[in-house]
Amino acid sequence: MLNAVARFTSRFVTLAFGGSCFLCGGSSRDAADPAQVLCAACEHSLMPPPAGRCPVCALRTPGGETCGRCIAKPPAFDATVCLSDYDFPADVLVQALKFRGELSLAGLFGRMIRSRIEPEALAGPDCVVPVPISDSRMRERGFNQSMEIARAIVSAGGPPVDGALAVRTRETAPQAGLPWKERARNLRGAFHCDPRAQGLRVAVVDDVMTTGSTLDELAATLKSAGARSVVNWVVARTPAAGAF
Ligand SMILES: [Zn+2]
Ligand SMILES: [Zn+2]
Repeated sequence: MLNAVARFTSRFVTLAFGGSCFLCGGSSRDAADPAQVLCAACEHSLMPPPAGRCPVCALRTPGGETCGRCIAKPPAFDATVCLSDYDFPADVLVQALKFRGELSLAGLFGRMIRSRIEPEALAGPDCVVPVPISDSRMRERGFNQSMEIARAIVSAGGPPVDGALAVRTRETAPQAGLPWKERARNLRGAFHCDPRAQGLRVAVVDDVMTTGSTLDELAATLKSAGARSVVNWVVARTPAAGAF
């Protein structure tokens, strides 16, 4: 039911805003194309030219070198691609998707992330796994924003989305509010992975990568189940949020 409401709201927004930009209200490039949610200027601000980022965790680094943290304590995932930093306008748009059910934004994020991934990297994984949310969160929200983004990334071709490979076993406290030492403990055992992960190359999709600890825990769970490699495709990376 909630899902239906969210979809209706999204459709309503598409119709109501017609050819105007979701962010600034200016005219978008192609009013007839419902995928065209933003005007050219706002699209550009959402997807700035690729910055130098750590290839492992996507933190900004001079010259795109691997950051000190990933060298000192490599996370369980192997690589991360992100669209932009988690600041304006990515923050406003991610929140509109997540909390107001503006599902057309998942299509926008998906299309943009897809354009950021090298063609061979897009073809590489055996499956695409959205970061799972708990059953209670699913009932409350009606959709998993990561699932919607994952579907959009591969809608024009790519590995299949597998929403059942990993599940969330319990809700966890928001990582941001916890002291560093408690973050790993907070997440331990938060995911369960199907044995089908054995030997698979997995691409994990998330909306926001804050400290990276959730993605680290999910990648560790996938690899314990035998996954061969794990890469992250995310919308936004919180700048200098620190360790996983
Ligand atoms: Zn605009
Ligand atoms: Zn790094």
